[in-house]
Amino acid sequence: MSEPARAKWGLPEEVIYCKRCVESNQRMMGSIQHADTKDSKKDTTIFDEEGVCSACLYFDQKKKIDWNEREQQLKDLCDQFRKKDGTYDVLVPGSGGKDSVFASHVLKHKYGMNPLTVTWAPHMYTDIGWKNFQAWIRAGFDNILFTPNGKVHAKLTRLAFENLLHPFQPFVLGQYYLAPRMAIERNIKLIFYADSSAERGTGKNVKMSGNQFDPRLYSIEKGQKPFIAGLLPEELAEHGVFQHDLAPYWPLDREVLEKADIAIHMLPYYINYDPQKMYYYAIEHSGFQPNPDGRSEGTYTKYSSLDDKVDGFHYFTWFIKTGRARATEDASLEIRNGHITREEGVALVRRFDGEFPKKYFKDFLDYTGLTEERFWDLINKGRSPHLWERVGGKWVLKHQVS
Ligand SMILES: [Zn+2]
Repeated sequence: MSEPARAKWGLPEEVIYCKRCVESNQRMMGSIQHADTKDSKKDTTIFDEEGVCSACLYFDQKKKIDWNEREQQLKDLCDQFRKKDGTYDVLVPGSGGKDSVFASHVLKHKYGMNPLTVTWAPHMYTDIGWKNFQAWIRAGFDNILFTPNGKVHAKLTRLAFENLLHPFQPFVLGQYYLAPRMAIERNIKLIFYADSSAERGTGKNVKMSGNQFDPRLYSIEKGQKPFIAGLLPEELAEHGVFQHDLAPYWPLDREVLEKADIAIHMLPYYINYDPQKMYYYAIEHSGFQPNPDGRSEGTYTKYSSLDDKVDGFHYFTWFIKTGRARATEDASLEIRNGHITREEGVALVRRFDGEFPKKYFKDFLDYTGLTEERFWDLINKGRSPHLWERVGGKWVLKHQVS
């Protein structure tokens, strides 16, 4: 007798693939992370009646955009925020990857802004990640590198892996709040993000082609409590993580954030974003280097998410939970940008998606304190029956893009 195929992780039961790219309706979107629990319903990619995903629909809109007009809007925005007293006028969060190099460089050199860059440190820097980060600073930027308490961060990473199968969640929270927090501290009224959720698909809570982020992503009302690693503060205390440990992960006070009146914009709204273009720009202007292994595990590309030894586990757990991961993401974006065909995309997904990130497996186990047995136990418990089945002693996906 077969098990009922109940979807775990708040995902839709029925699996749909986009007719144009290789994305599925299982992709979780940038939801409000501090409300994220194991069972909370996830905001996932939406599809139109013809079976086309919201990211591809955004690209239809994108073709009609008058980029000269958008650039004028960007110039006006910069004019409005530019300071003449030598202090910083824009904050650019980033890691020194291709997108943040591009954003900080054009804002400084083309639009005459004085950016401060801020970085939430990776769990464990890779050699190439550290080199690219240093190259970014040497290319001419001031930077604040924030490194969270290593003991607390490792513990939260483990708890997020255990509770949400999302080892990156504490990182995401910390990184989210760092930029507005630093902006308030330094009296900077403009934040520019280098990337945009619209390029990769949007859920119903995120504006499709908007230029600004929703402040609810960054803040809570007075008296409200966040979930961190899927747990409430009093539950975290049972694991030896206390209120005073949580400052970097605690959302901003909504009233304080609103009063600070910070504009949070996405650069791809104003400048036509293409990952390949950003890659060549970064090579030219900061000496950015791609993955020296030729490609990153789990995909065929060599230029994104290179700086953290935990990256591969972010994508692998994503694959376990949603049946699609890094190669799907990369191929879909390249199909939308016209670099590859859908057929090529399908072949790349089938070859690389879900590849196990073995290079840093031992580092990940050491970092989180998980045993190999416990790791696989949690992974296998995280497989949703609407996506996975056991065939001949092996786990296989029930649905694949074709
Ligand atoms: Zn699509």
